[in-house]
Amino acid sequence: MIFAGWSKGSYGLPCRAENDTRLALLGEHFAGAAKGFDDAVLATLGTGIGGAVMLGGKLLQSGGHKAEGLAGHLGVAWNGRVSSCGNRGCAEAEASTSLLDAVCSEREGFAKSALADTATAIDFHGLLDAADAGDASALEVVDRCVGGWSALTVTLIHAYDPKVVVFGGGAMRRHEAILPRIRDHLDWHAWAEKGSVKIVPTALGSSAALLGALHLLRGRV
Ligand SMILES: [Zn+2]
Repeated sequence: MIFAGWSKGSYGLPCRAENDTRLALLGEHFAGAAKGFDDAVLATLGTGIGGAVMLGGKLLQSGGHKAEGLAGHLGVAWNGRVSSCGNRGCAEAEASTSLLDAVCSEREGFAKSALADTATAIDFHGLLDAADAGDASALEVVDRCVGGWSALTVTLIHAYDPKVVVFGGGAMRRHEAILPRIRDHLDWHAWAEKGSVKIVPTALGSSAALLGALHLLRGRV
């Protein structure tokens, strides 16, 4: 509100503030992978794990701004790693880029992995490339991460009953290696008719939030 007053007073221009993941879902809803779906969830699998929820065409938002956006802090492993929020086994603590170095180094036998010799931080692109090459540690960590994302997706479906779950973030550079495995998991474990929830990568990528901001400023939401 302070920025809105400053912008109006200084430049005569409207100003609204919104979370980037929520803006991305707005953008995907108006012109991307969630177009035509009023019940939708977006999850970003990258440095952290973000989330946004739309129900009945409206972005879900609680007074404390947590109910709709804490996808990364939904538990996927009750005895997992301690998360930055204090919980144990959050999706973000188990399967996000920022924790990949730690997750990999905890694997038995990781010293023999090609990833152990890389000077830069491990990301999902490099991890999946190593798995494709048959690296045992990489295969194990990919399985662990896909398992975490799959459990997260089941929870998102059970909590919000979306018709589409859109995935963004750096891991989606290799969506063809990830999303089919999540779909297969859902077929077995989600309380939803098989194939009834679309599992898709972002259609707009990093432009989604900008497009969402446009609609926000035009007062369409
Ligand atoms: Zn957490």
